Amino acid sequence: MSTTIKEEKETASLLDSTQVVIKEALDKLGYSEEVFELLKEPLRMLTVRIPIKMDDNTTKIFTGYRAQHNDAVGPTKGGIRFHPEVDEEEVKALSMWMSLKCGIVNLPYGGGKGGIICDPRQMSIGELERLSRGYVRAISQIVGPTKDIPAPDVYTNSQIMAWMMDEYSRIREHDSPGFITGKPLVLGGSHGREKATAQGVTICIEEAAKRKGIELKGARIIVQGFGNAGSFLAKFMHDAGAKVIGISDAYGAIYNQDGLDIDYLLDKRDSFGTVTTLFDHTITNQELLEQDCDILVPAAISNQITKENAHLIKAQIVVEAANGPTTLEATKILTERNVLLVPDVLASSGGVTVSYFEWVQNNQGYYWEDEEVQTKLKALLVNSFNQIYEMSETRKVDMRLAAYMVGVRKMAEASIFRGWV
Ligand code: GLU
Repeated sequence: MSTTIKEEKETASLLDSTQVVIKEALDKLGYSEEVFELLKEPLRMLTVRIPIKMDDNTTKIFTGYRAQHNDAVGPTKGGIRFHPEVDEEEVKALSMWMSLKCGIVNLPYGGGKGGIICDPRQMSIGELERLSRGYVRAISQIVGPTKDIPAPDVYTNSQIMAWMMDEYSRIREHDSPGFITGKPLVLGGSHGREKATAQGVTICIEEAAKRKGIELKGARIIVQGFGNAGSFLAKFMHDAGAKVIGISDAYGAIYNQDGLDIDYLLDKRDSFGTVTTLFDHTITNQELLEQDCDILVPAAISNQITKENAHLIKAQIVVEAANGPTTLEATKILTERNVLLVPDVLASSGGVTVSYFEWVQNNQGYYWEDEEVQTKLKALLVNSFNQIYEMSETRKVDMRLAAYMVGVRKMAEASIFRGWV
């Protein structure tokens, strides 16, 4: 756990590096300095302090944030994370990535993000419910189905979305399913939302494998992280006939060249994705990244592939299921080494895409079958992958810069049309 916390402290540089690539993307597309000035930080950032009665009758004050990057295209959209290491800079950078994801998939949204500094692993269900409701009361003025639509993120789930939706509906005095996405099915959730991030990653892996001439059946895959995205992804890859040879959680990693028993691991993982503590022989997360494999999927936390270890990565394809796992220097090294890197803002956009479907279904009050969700998700993400791959080839830029160029275009255009710049 100590490495997890240390790595996540790098968040100030996450914002810096996001700004660097946004600037580069805007320059390449020929936009003015004013457009960059507008987009380099969120338009709004609300900090709230939330008093919560704990089970032992003491009162604890929690700090929460909600950032809204840009709402020129439409309402802002993005998850809420509950984590002890959340901070303002991180939430800002994450809201900007949400803008890029929405631009890449062509959703009618800008980006938003929220976070509360807390450790849900140390809290009771009752405390979590009070905190979820308290946060909604604190941010209720700036959110809503046509303003800013939250969703799950790290350590938040459909139960937390349900409490938040209920609290918001009470405040507004009418049922408001479209206020938040990632809800349980019975409360207006969408089929396919829970597995959507992993589904999006799977689509990107399929497309990248085609480009690299790798047959998915039998391909050796390492997945770092066993949370929502990592665990579903390991299952999908296993079911597709690929060999998942390594997985990890916050405490360590397990690796076996002959393939792991994914069904057993899924059965044993706890609700926070912890499973390696059951094994005597583990390796570190860093060691796992350097093992021999065809496809590597960092699905855990930021700053995992850096200039220190990028030259040790053996995979031919790296697909970023986590937000920000590869630094800019490492992106350069991997690209020079001809590793096909599918950047986070594309690879992890499946979640917000199905969130959009959920919101559309809430607005129209008419719900789709799982198959319809799958077909629509696949069509959108294959199209986005192709656009970015083509941009990278024709403009001779790496996949990250290509993704930023595709992602930032609509937001820049919309801001200009509105007369903001
Ligand atoms: N938290 C997810 C993300 O980072 C999903 C956001 C959403 O569904 O709005 O993409």
